Amino acid sequence: MKYLSKSPEETRRIGAKFSRTLKSGSWVGLYGDLGAGKTTFVQGMALGIGINPRNYVSSPTFTMVNLYEGNGRTLVHVDLYRVKNAEEIETLGLNDYEDAVMVIEWAEKLKKPPEIQVRLKTVSEMEREVEVI
Ligand code: ADP
Ligand code: MG
Repeated sequence: MKYLSKSPEETRRIGAKFSRTLKSGSWVGLYGDLGAGKTTFVQGMALGIGINPRNYVSSPTFTMVNLYEGNGRTLVHVDLYRVKNAEEIETLGLNDYEDAVMVIEWAEKLKKPPEIQVRLKTVSEMEREVEVI
């Protein structure tokens, strides 16, 4: 499915609608350059599964892994931008979050791509193509 978003709000709405289709335990890989709207999309996902994005918990240990928690659900938001190698990813313990929805920015750094992939592209200053694969 492909969308053309014309604002950050619209990207959040697309993320919200998308997240309602996900089961606990799903892994979602996000792809796209800096500024393509990956984090904006994640904020929408949190809203979609009923979590107030204000309930954003920064992990004290790993700044690459942060949680959105609330309404009995957890969205684990991973940003691999600064990760250097596969060993470093191992230390994050991503497989330990059994019932959460996992969403991973810069998912190309994972050994194998998650079953669900979302590709974001900058089209113009305010336009982003959002493709769910
Ligand atoms: P990424 O995580 O991919 O680096 P962010 O979501 O952090 O990207 O940032 C996207 C930036 O682009 C924000 O500053 C946002 O306001 C801006 N922007 C402009 N138009 C859009 C759009 N249609 N969708 C998402 N973000 C947009
Ligand atoms: Mg980001």
